[in-house]
Amino acid sequence: MKGKIKINTERCKGCTFCVETCPFGVISIRKRFNKSGFFPAVAVHIEKCTGCAMCARMCPDIAIEVYRDDKPKSMHAARRKR
Ligand code: SF4
Ligand code: SF4
Repeated sequence: MKGKIKINTERCKGCTFCVETCPFGVISIRKRFNKSGFFPAVAVHIEKCTGCAMCARMCPDIAIEVYRDDKPKSMHAARRKR
């Protein structure tokens, strides 16, 4: 399963909970602040995201959306699913 996250950087307060929670180091803190003066979280290694949604669950500001791609990646995987 492959995942993808979308972070609303204007909603983010830079608490780093999501950075510390992600088991794959997907998220980091941006060096440029947002309109509210916080250094927001950004996805820097999105290719490692599994879609586990732990980051979104930890976020106190509901700034993270998680998407999952459950589609099989090959014909072999597609056959196994039947
Ligand atoms: S969904 Fe999981 S793997 Fe993806 S960024 Fe969030 S905590 Fe990390
Ligand atoms: S947990 Fe939410 S508010 Fe905190 S840094 Fe991550 S996205 Fe921003």
